[in-house]
Amino acid sequence: AGIIVAMPIQLLPDVLISQIAAGEVVERPASALKEFLENSLDAQSTDIAVSLQQGGIKSLRVADDGIGIPKEELALALARHATSKIASLEDLENVASLGFRGEALASVASVSRLSLTSRARGERHAWRIDADGGQYSALQPAALEGGSIVEMQDLYFNTPARRKFLKTEATEFGHCEEAFKRVALSRPDVGFQLTHNGSAKWRLPSSEASKRIGAVLGTEFAAAALPLDEQGGALRLWGMAAKPTFSRMGRDAQYVYVNGRFVRDKLIAHAIRQAYQDVLHHERHPAFVLFLEIDPALVDANVHPTKTEVRFRDGQAVHRFIFHSLHKALATTAGTATTAAPL
Ligand code: ADP
Ligand code: MG
Repeated sequence: AGIIVAMPIQLLPDVLISQIAAGEVVERPASALKEFLENSLDAQSTDIAVSLQQGGIKSLRVADDGIGIPKEELALALARHATSKIASLEDLENVASLGFRGEALASVASVSRLSLTSRARGERHAWRIDADGGQYSALQPAALEGGSIVEMQDLYFNTPARRKFLKTEATEFGHCEEAFKRVALSRPDVGFQLTHNGSAKWRLPSSEASKRIGAVLGTEFAAAALPLDEQGGALRLWGMAAKPTFSRMGRDAQYVYVNGRFVRDKLIAHAIRQAYQDVLHHERHPAFVLFLEIDPALVDANVHPTKTEVRFRDGQAVHRFIFHSLHKALATTAGTATTAAPL
């Protein structure tokens, strides 16, 4: 056991605060990838290219064609609690962007070698800043047509205890791929690419939602999927839910989004399970991609730094709506349900 030394109360240095926060925000390369992709989407990008080396541990790079970061804000982008997305409590309560906490880049910068290259519209060339474990370099001129490139290298190089928790390259790549798919499913209108160790893994041109879902989850899923789009008051649920005949042993094709953000929510999961209950053998897992749209003022995404949890103002109404919408869609295949049971 460690020795507890009595010390006077003192404020922690900023880099240390970020390193502590990084434990929640950047658990592994995939969590940094999620944050970078969300930043690119918030910057209105239409094309996003990801390249990974060694499962994202050695290097993880996201290049976008978004609005970029003006030169005088580049250093601020890496500072803690610095964001261009909200400025007041009112903004927070109606937040429509994916980010708003202003801590992702600061967290990543504190536990890796992060570089940010960006060219905002109207600037004559790009600028680059490097942060090595929270130590910022001076701005340097760089070459870039437009948009931003964010590159994280050597995750946890300065926090060896954390580095030990990283898994093999293949496992970390798998998590990165999953994070990539989650984001790609949510924005079919945006083009995405992913390369790993120099070889192309995904190429997803901008397309319709159903086409994107098919490209990401496979043609078998697409063939078995029932489209759904239900409106109930201020709520809308749309997407694709596979017929019960296309069920899985594992939960590998379950995607739920609230206002475009991938979430894991017990209440929603319960409503979905209940809707499938009558038609699905209970040891099997349904497959679905569902988007819930709700007034941002009725949902709080600020429950956890990664924002994969949400809190609804009226959870029961959301539960009822999802159950009924999905139940209705599945009812059209009720006849095939009995043949599905012996699978
Ligand atoms: P947040 O997304 O919560 O604002 P981040 O730490 O992720 O916090 O990013 C800080 C700021 O850096 C953002 O508010 C945004 O202004 C800027 N930024 C980060 N990535 C990009 C990008 N790819 N394109 C344009 N601006 C970016
Ligand atoms: Mg962000």
